[in-house]
Amino acid sequence: METLTDRDFYPEWHEALVLLNRDLAATEPDAEPFALLLDEYGVYVGFPSWGAQGNPLPEQPEAGLHEVADAAQESAMEHLWRVWPVCPEHGLGVHARTEGGQVLWWCAGRGPAQGHGTPVGTFEARRTMSRRASKRRQGKSGETPS
Ligand SMILES: [Zn+2]
Repeated sequence: METLTDRDFYPEWHEALVLLNRDLAATEPDAEPFALLLDEYGVYVGFPSWGAQGNPLPEQPEAGLHEVADAAQESAMEHLWRVWPVCPEHGLGVHARTEGGQVLWWCAGRGPAQGHGTPVGTFEARRTMSRRASKRRQGKSGETPS
């Protein structure tokens, strides 16, 4: 699969990936960032070194953040072999849901009838808030020259 790096193609999908990569980096610091991948069937959301899972993104103007989030989730769960993403508050798997024009990761953690949503792209902020007091873990330097 070819990696689509030219932002002139599908600028909205590239913007959606920025948000999803924020959530991915916040929750899976060692994971390779999402990218748009192209083959003869269409554009997928996946990982350049691994590929993608699921169907290509629909070639429609209404395919936006919600659809990109669904596609990213499918590839991430298959690639990482675990539920992704997980609600930082409840530790439950979440799903993309559009409400009031905003795309949220929806969690059922407050009871089946009253879930709650975290806007896509904001897991880092949530994590910082909930783990502010915790010790900073020492990790390898994540910067890769490009
Ligand atoms: Zn939750």
